[in-house]
Amino acid sequence: MTSNSENNNNNEAHPSDSQISLEATSNEKSEPLCHWCHQLAEENEQFLQVELVDGDQTKAYYYCSEEHELKIIRFYNYSKNFRIIYYLFILLFPIILLTLLAVFHNWLFIYVVFISFGIGIIILPLLGEKTVNGLGLKNSLILGRVLGLVILLIGVTLFVINGWKIFLPD
Ligand SMILES: [Zn+2]
Repeated sequence: MTSNSENNNNNEAHPSDSQISLEATSNEKSEPLCHWCHQLAEENEQFLQVELVDGDQTKAYYYCSEEHELKIIRFYNYSKNFRIIYYLFILLFPIILLTLLAVFHNWLFIYVVFISFGIGIIILPLLGEKTVNGLGLKNSLILGRVLGLVILLIGVTLFVINGWKIFLPD
């Protein structure tokens, strides 16, 4: 009898508990955005998370569909593989070019720095975590590549205009 009354007490306690937890989960549900397309989860929909390891950090990302989970994983693998090439164009080549500029006093080298930056950003448009969180990965990549292309075209244009004068004097 005593155990029954305890059970009854437990049963009375449960409904309010589950109500609280339901409210909590519905609040959390309005938060998750697909990391790839930045789509918000529907009320009765639950986004799953994919965990990716980057160095000593493990980050979890929400995804809306298996297709977008694959896209997130593919990009992070791609980003790992191409990071060295990215730093070649963003860091190493510019340092070499600026050294050449200091030695030869030829401004053409500075335009090649633009070209190098542009190529680097097109290869790996890393715009930072804030941009990705604000726009989603897909849109960040588009924005980054457009930016890279603009920088590349500015570099090529300046190089052609100024190079023309140097290689064809009068
Ligand atoms: Zn998505």
